[in-house]
Amino acid sequence: MGRSVLVTGGNRGIGLAVARRLAAGGDRVAVTFRSGSPPEGLFGVRCDVTDAQQVDRAFKEAEAEHGAVEVLVANAGITRDRLLAVMTEDDFDAVLDTNLGGAFRVAKRAVRAMMSARGGRIVLVSSVSALLGTAGQTNYAASKAGLIGFGRSLARELAPRNITVNVVAAGLIDTDMTASLPQARRAAMTAAVPLGRAGTAEEVATVVDFLAGPGAGYITGAVVPVDGGLGMGH
Ligand code: NDP
Repeated sequence: MGRSVLVTGGNRGIGLAVARRLAAGGDRVAVTFRSGSPPEGLFGVRCDVTDAQQVDRAFKEAEAEHGAVEVLVANAGITRDRLLAVMTEDDFDAVLDTNLGGAFRVAKRAVRAMMSARGGRIVLVSSVSALLGTAGQTNYAASKAGLIGFGRSLARELAPRNITVNVVAAGLIDTDMTASLPQARRAAMTAAVPLGRAGTAEEVATVVDFLAGPGAGYITGAVVPVDGGLGMGH
């Protein structure tokens, strides 16, 4: 009958691809959506991950529908790209609060039930920017590098309870987030990818599915690249 899964930012992009893939595998998937409406055919719970009360309410709704969350995919994220010299406090805080603070809030809300159940899976969606650094993304890279330290520490905390925590470091992936990149920047980024193309949300979803699945039972605290080779060696 599958597991109870919660995917944050599951209404589009990578989160939606992850949700659809896990649902296709038989899991009971809830997705959070912040704006608009929930995606067709998936159970949606409205939630802004910067607000702990909304996170708590979203978990309660997901639990009522599907039971305690057994697989958490912390995917919601934003960019506010700007060179540091012109970056505002708000640009920095908003990105950290969403990307790193959001993962903290949802993981914290999820772990108690996983600890009682003595099992669970947490996958955090990070970026190759965390490892390579990207000009214009000091806020974003800091948030995504923070996820790696957060995830590895949490992996150590939760390992005795048979809960794994892994990080996916995605490269250039075709979604709304990258659609607005200037053409020249996109071409330069693509040229730096050994496989010579952007990845798809489905290619990230395949790896998240694996890390959330039975085949990954002996993997925890890992940072798994899905980047066409872009971050190789980092
Ligand atoms: P999209 O912009 O397509 O989707 C982002 C998702 O996050 C949306 O569902 C959005 O909800 C949600 N979200 C943003 N802020 C909040 C918030 N405060 N509360 C709740 N939900 C929120 O991006 P991607 O699918 O590309 O990105 C998904 C994740 O993958 C992000 O963490 C991103 O950093 C990461 N990533 C993406 C890469 C890429 O090249 N695309 C590369 C590396 C990592 P809403 O629809 O309401 O805005």
